[in-house]
Amino acid sequence: DEIWTCDTLEKANLFIKSLSSPASLANYVAGELELPSSPQTRFIDSFDPKTGNLLYKVLCTQEADIETAIGHARTAFKTWSKTPRVERSRHLRRISELLEDHRELFAVWESIDQGKTIDRARVEVDRAISNFSYFSTYILHEQTAARMIDGVALTYEHRSPAGVFALISPWNMPLYLLTWKIAPCIAFGCTAVAKPSEITSMTAYLLGVLLRKAGLPPGVVNIVLGDGPTTGAALAASPSIDGVSFTGGTQTGIAIRRNTAHQIRKHLSLELGGKNPTLVFADAMQPESRERTLRIAASAAFENQGEICLCGSRIYVERAVYKLFVAEFAPYVATKYILGKTMGAVASLQHYQKIRGYLDLAAREKATFVIGSVPAVMDKHDQGGYWIQPTILTDVSKDSALQKDEIFGPVVTISPFEDEDDAIRLANDSEYGLAAVLLTNDAARLRRVGEQMMAGLVWANCWLVRELGTPFGGMKNSGTGREGGEYSRDVFTVMRTLHLGT
Ligand code: NAD
Repeated sequence: DEIWTCDTLEKANLFIKSLSSPASLANYVAGELELPSSPQTRFIDSFDPKTGNLLYKVLCTQEADIETAIGHARTAFKTWSKTPRVERSRHLRRISELLEDHRELFAVWESIDQGKTIDRARVEVDRAISNFSYFSTYILHEQTAARMIDGVALTYEHRSPAGVFALISPWNMPLYLLTWKIAPCIAFGCTAVAKPSEITSMTAYLLGVLLRKAGLPPGVVNIVLGDGPTTGAALAASPSIDGVSFTGGTQTGIAIRRNTAHQIRKHLSLELGGKNPTLVFADAMQPESRERTLRIAASAAFENQGEICLCGSRIYVERAVYKLFVAEFAPYVATKYILGKTMGAVASLQHYQKIRGYLDLAAREKATFVIGSVPAVMDKHDQGGYWIQPTILTDVSKDSALQKDEIFGPVVTISPFEDEDDAIRLANDSEYGLAAVLLTNDAARLRRVGEQMMAGLVWANCWLVRELGTPFGGMKNSGTGREGGEYSRDVFTVMRTLHLGT
């Protein structure tokens, strides 16, 4: 109850300090908040990224409790899948309104739990609200295609809810990404067992409380907490699950695909990692476009500490303006992204160490740190918390792991390109294919280059602009399938084509 009164950072921090021992977050199953059935259940410590202090404990749900949650989702499916869409829509609308009423509470805990700034957290809670409001409207206007075949048969697509889904999400945008799955899943008449990341479970726990307050029928959404190897793996592989919508790392996506390979019937939607290019053509550095170019390239690289799958972490600049870009980009980033003010801490100690490893590699490979450095990172970390300065690297070989691996932190490389073909080749030289950013005023070039990007999402002279009906997803090792509007319908429904003879 007390958590629900913590709608400012000050109140939340005072509440955390007042606890004699860290709270254990509970599962939300069949409409109730529940602790584990087995006394042997393991708990995982979750830390405050900005201080490094222990924040709360997350139970690691075991197989038996997961199956119980799936059982409740299965029972709820019988009624929910037949609930008229007007009523389902009303439930989603109610959830979005209640979330809006508690916007600040969710933003405060998201910021504390993930390390992001409060401003960034607000943007993401707003998106979570939109996830529910968008799909509450979408299902009311859903269309079915029908056509007459030569006057002999009327043919139409009939869809029905696909069943009980495992919804598994990562730690970088916890509420935003979990609700991006929950909202369409229940809108299309499916029921869910959702699992947030063990690193950031706070807003998922709060969402369970909110769904209860919103009066969503018990069992339609169940939220189980736990880590990947124990809880996530058992949930995704359970034979009682009809589909998995997963967002996270490529290696985990591969594991889920392997573990479910024998279950052909299982719907799989995999939204995975990225190592996205930003292409800066010479004209984008002309005085009238320069500020826009710097702003877009900087936010694409450093928003949310670079912990967004869509971040542009490889910048390629046309050689004629390469030196100019580096000279202007560095001070722009240094003044705009300030640790503890406009940029947060990275999500966990483990992730901090991963990024540190790449900075050590950059030093060993004699890359130039245009801004950021290895020792400065340590200084700040010694004060507590997982802080990494925005880091710009140049003189990095194209074969270096710094250019190939998804670092998923505030680290960007800048390299020159010679001409349009070279730019396209470099941009596409990646195992990933999630997003690409193009910066130029040449409209023909934008189209020409954009259509050759091996990326599921291409942003030209903008970044992260989203409309929830547009297809979202990646090529190559960035994932399979698309989500958003009618594309989410493909994930959460089964379709039969009916031919009615005339
Ligand atoms: P992760 O793959 O380690 O974990 C994601 C989720 O999967 C967590 O809930 C985790 O507990 C669970 N999990 C781990 N192992 C599992 C297993 N064997 N079976 C089932 N579930 C398992 O990813 P992360 O480190 O939490 O998130 C960062 C990654 O997510 C980055 O690669 C980033 O690019 C990606 N991401 C992709 C998108 C997208 O839309 N494509 C969006 C955000 C993040």
